[in-house]
Amino acid sequence: MSEPVVGGVAERFKELYGAEPEGVWAAPGRVNLIGEHTDYNDGFVMPFALPHVTVVAVSRREDGVLRLHSEDVEGGVVELRVDELNPGSDKNWTAYPAGVAWALRDAGHPVTGADIHLTSTVPSGAGLSSSAALEVAVALALNDLYELGLKGWQLARLCQRAENVYVGAPVGIMDQTASACCTAGHALFLDTRDLSQQQIPFDLAAEGMRLLVVDTQVKHEHSTGEYGKRRAGCEKGAALLGVEALRDVPYDGLDAALARLGNEEEVRRLVRHIVTENHRVEQTVALLEAGETRAIGPVLVEGHASLRDDFRISCPELDLVVDTALSAGAIGARMTGGGFGGSAIVLAETTDVDTITKAVREAFAAAGFTAPRVFEAVPSAGARRLS
Ligand code: ADP
Ligand code: MG
Repeated sequence: MSEPVVGGVAERFKELYGAEPEGVWAAPGRVNLIGEHTDYNDGFVMPFALPHVTVVAVSRREDGVLRLHSEDVEGGVVELRVDELNPGSDKNWTAYPAGVAWALRDAGHPVTGADIHLTSTVPSGAGLSSSAALEVAVALALNDLYELGLKGWQLARLCQRAENVYVGAPVGIMDQTASACCTAGHALFLDTRDLSQQQIPFDLAAEGMRLLVVDTQVKHEHSTGEYGKRRAGCEKGAALLGVEALRDVPYDGLDAALARLGNEEEVRRLVRHIVTENHRVEQTVALLEAGETRAIGPVLVEGHASLRDDFRISCPELDLVVDTALSAGAIGARMTGGGFGGSAIVLAETTDVDTITKAVREAFAAAGFTAPRVFEAVPSAGARRLS
């Protein structure tokens, strides 16, 4: 994040609240390389942080008042009282930062108020986790200012609780952990059961490759309901198989598990996706560690097929990105994020990027779809203090 942005955010804070902020923090959005819908099955994920960040300027208050302002939303400063924060009561953007203050206080941390101003370069609602970027930026600021001494993974847990309980969105732990814990030039291999993590070198430019994010700019309406159904189906699968979570079904025990599920066709598909997807994360880690980056291409493509055919959360726009990119020479491609819209990722030789981008744009125009946003995703730093 360049200095002018920090300066701009601090200056705007002063205009709004009449004094310099005590500090400025940033937290990134993320894309998930592989490991989709595994995080609520206690499984493996492999996100990396984007250069796109949410930047917050914050000062403490001791009078129990929480003042919130976003440059990116219409409306002025919103004022709340920290001792009156009530989960589920706020349907606006302010629920995300207020939820973080609530989660910290609910965990016994002495947060007595704050003035907060923020702005973001993370596209909102594109499956790139602007919500986690916002939560983690605020959490890190409050952690520093109130000297709470919480580690990245602990802040991630509190942010997840803010989103689950205060905002009311049943999300897993991946997004917040990615935003809090990723490091530049690496993907984060995360075990969502115990939050153990490993930074896996993922410096594509050095190897003559690029990773593109194609934001389809669509969000199909049924996505929230369908997410709930997939979660419930996965829980049913675990219950029928007598395991705590689908994570506990080993890859080499998949056939036996599917046989046990008999004619539960829908559950069988979900189980097959989760078990094979966890395996794909492990394959990806092994290939990257062996320096065989190009060999992850087919793993990404298999992951897409599994999300499309077994988990059934793709959509025509995402399939068109993947099919077109592969026909135009991509090494691998798949949808990423929750599904039914949002973004796809494309792994490509640097020399093929322009051809692939053009092919995707033309295919979208020919299909009558909204023009996609295409940008390069460079594995970037996680949450940090800027000033
Ligand atoms: P995603 O996390 O994929 O971007 P979500 O629906 O989880 O999508 O989160 C988007 C929501 O987060 C927005 O609708 C808004 O309420 C909040 N949000 C994200 N970024 C900002 C911002 N810069 N200013 C205000 N609210 C934001
Ligand atoms: Mg989100």
